[in-house]
Parts: sequence; C-alpha cells; structure tokens
Amino acid sequence: MSTESFKALLKRALNSPYAETDIGLSLFRTCLETMHARYMEDYELKGPSLELGVGDGSSSMFINGEKSGAISVGLDMPLGMTFETKGLWWHPVATHYRSYVGGNMENIPFAGAAFETVYSSETMFYGMDMRATATEISRVLKPGGKFYCFNATEQWFNFDAVLSQLKCNIPSFSVPTDDEFVSIFEDTGLTCERRSYFFSPAMEILLHSVVDTGAGRVAEHSLLNRAPHELARKIEVLSELLEHEYDSSSGGFHHFLVFTQTGDAKENKIKGTDVLSFDPFDHLKCPVCTGTRFDFEESDIKCSGCDATYGVVCGVPMLVDEKQSGFSSIDLDASVTAPINRHLGYAQKTAGTIFNKFSDTVTQMLEQADGNALDLVVMAEQEIESKVLISRQTASALRYLLKRAYPNHSVSMRILKDPKESQPMLEPSGVPTLALYFSGGTALPESFREALQVRAVHTVHRVSLDIVK
Ligand SMILES: [Zn+2]
Repeated sequence: MSTESFKALLKRALNSPYAETDIGLSLFRTCLETMHARYMEDYELKGPSLELGVGDGSSSMFINGEKSGAISVGLDMPLGMTFETKGLWWHPVATHYRSYVGGNMENIPFAGAAFETVYSSETMFYGMDMRATATEISRVLKPGGKFYCFNATEQWFNFDAVLSQLKCNIPSFSVPTDDEFVSIFEDTGLTCERRSYFFSPAMEILLHSVVDTGAGRVAEHSLLNRAPHELARKIEVLSELLEHEYDSSSGGFHHFLVFTQTGDAKENKIKGTDVLSFDPFDHLKCPVCTGTRFDFEESDIKCSGCDATYGVVCGVPMLVDEKQSGFSSIDLDASVTAPINRHLGYAQKTAGTIFNKFSDTVTQMLEQADGNALDLVVMAEQEIESKVLISRQTASALRYLLKRAYPNHSVSMRILKDPKESQPMLEPSGVPTLALYFSGGTALPESFREALQVRAVHTVHRVSLDIVK
C-alpha cells in the first residue's frame, strides 16, 4: 500500500489557502477532503463542468488543487437559503470557478446537454427531492458526460447519537438507501460505473467526536495546532489510516459514485461549445417556464417567455423560482451577511467604473472583430490577492455588464493567478480579449499581454477593503 498520495494531500490541506478554511482548521474536513481528492486523482473534470452545492467553494478547490477554471459554473442556493453552508457565498479564495449561478438542483437553470461534467461533494443529503435532482443532472449532461458524486450513505441511520448530532447542523438531512440512490440515477439514463465506500463507522464517529458541530463554527481541533515534529508523525499515521479506509466495498459513512450519461441528449444539444468560450448566460434556462431567452437588465434578468424576473448579485444570476424554498433555511445574522454584502457592493462598484472607462474601447474592439465573442481575463498579483481577494467578484460583475451591453456576444471569463505563475498555461482565445489586472503598482508584463493577445488592459492599483472574517 502506498500512503504517498495521502501524505501529499494532507500536507496540502494544511497549507495556504486551505489552512485558512474549514479544510485546514477541522480535522474532520482535513481527512474528508483528502479522501475526496484522492478519489478524484483518477479522473479529469472535462469542461464545461457544473458543480452542484458550492457553499464557500473550498471543497472543490481542494480536489482540483486550485486549477484555474477547473469548474465552469458553481451552483448553490442564494445566500441564506441553506443552513449549514449559508448557501452560495463564494469565498473569495475559491480560485477555480469561471462563474456562479444561484439555483436549485431540483430545477437546474441550464439548458439540456450543456455540460460534460457534473460534480457534487457531500450535498445530496440536504433534503432535496432526489428523483427530481437526478432527472435534472441527467438532463444537463451531454451524452458520454460524467457525474461524480460524494455523498452520505444509509450507514448514518444505524447510529442514532451521531445522526442527531449531525441533524443539529443539517436539520433536513436525509438519504435513500444506497441501492436506491444508485437506481434513482440509473432510472434517468445514467449508468453507475463505480461505487466505493469510505470512512468506516469507527473512523467517522471518531472524527466527529473531535469536531465542534454547529452552523458556521469551525472546529478547534486542527492538525495545525501541532508542533512541526509532531505534525510530521501525525501525518504519517493519518496517511496509513486513510489508505486503509480508501475504497472499501461496503459499510462506510460515505460513498463515491461515478455515473456516465449513456442516454441520448435530452434537448437543445449545444454545438461547438469549447471550454474556453463557454458562456453560462447563453445556456440559462428559466426555472418557471423552461424558456431560454432572457433580457439582461441592470439588476435583474427577465425571462422573455414568462416575464419572471430574477435578481443578479454582483453579476451572478439568482435563478430560483420564488415559490421554491431553500433546504433548511436560516435567517443569517447581520454580522455574517454585512461583510459579504459590503464586499460584493465594492466589487460591483469597481466593475461599474471599469466598464464605463472601457465601454468605447470594447465597442471598437467588437466592431473590428469577425465573430461574436469576447474574452475577459482577470488576474491579480499574488501580493494583492492574499490581502484583498476581490478580483473574481469584480470579474463576475464586469462580465455581467459586458453581457448586458452586448447580449448577442458570447462572453467568457478566465480567472488566472499571478501572471508569473500563469504564463506557461496561457492560450490565446483568438477573440477580442479584455484583461483586468489587480496590482500593487506594477503593470501587466508585456510578455503576458502578447501571449494572450490582449487588446485592452485595465489595471486596478488601489484596492482597500475589509474582507469577510
Ligand atoms: Zn420563464
């Protein structure tokens, strides 16, 4: 048995930026995400991809090792609609999403066959209608597409005390039996090609016994509190334990499932959509009437089919039918929402300023271009990013403004890390490109500009904001 992968992943969990999230702070999350990442090492998330149940986004960021753009769209209920994770609040450290949408996985607001991959990490137990959810996942997957799912198993119902502790945290917790879970998805045309269990009852209960459960509260037991020499030994021991817990055939508290879409495309097969140019706004579906034509207004999106309007928060459409309620909803304390809203308000305003400054340039760029596409590339100097973390929220808001001004153009967005690190991975998209660069004073390197064939750059030099604590 090789424990090397586990060792490397555990070490990663304890380093920046994960060390600042639940992943580094809670021993349970450290082990859980390490296990998820180990499974996902065997697979490649082909784009366009959709993650269901984003929360703060740290979970799938960990499995993807921060690969920029690894997930095309992250979907969750709008902020405050789910108890444990608060819903979609897209922690600014989550660097791997191209875009977000507020939505309900029982009624996914995207047209059929829009995605190569759907990914879901420990979210299919919040009390949603599993048949409706499975039907929706199957509908949005392209033929041959994959659904990767980590979820709780029926094993929870054999342990009353641990279940009731979990229910303090997730009041609506429910799962069908494990075989039912598979057949619900197979009934929709998906084929289950893998099911692996992990975390035996002893492991799960032990880890939960040292986790301080409660909404939004972080456990005090963290490997980070260990002295370095002791930590190295703990990691060795845990790696062995995790290796032992990996890939068992039954009885675990969690299972990992891989499904393939073996049926035909359900509707509206999207042709020629490559990963780079994927514009989620072109694939939105109205959750009320299933219409796919929208008018983009300043602060909302209006369905042309049924006139339903949906809010837009900092460029993120919140496509939830007002008759739908959240799972385990909670009224969030203003101390939680105020800093998030301040953050989003600031990003929104910054995007407005940039848009106004560049709208003439962009119009010219697009008039001279052959096609109907526009690429937005956003990056921040590492130094700035570690302090302000504002770039991707600003990018979302800016992208929305661009889409609103040019609704017939496909607007893609790429968020890159520090240009010094990103340059080897660059590919020009071949369409007019607008780059937004957050820096402490330096200009975007010329070589970077050439590599991307950037036509316009806006550098934001001065950003100051108190970030969500
Ligand atoms: Zn509609």
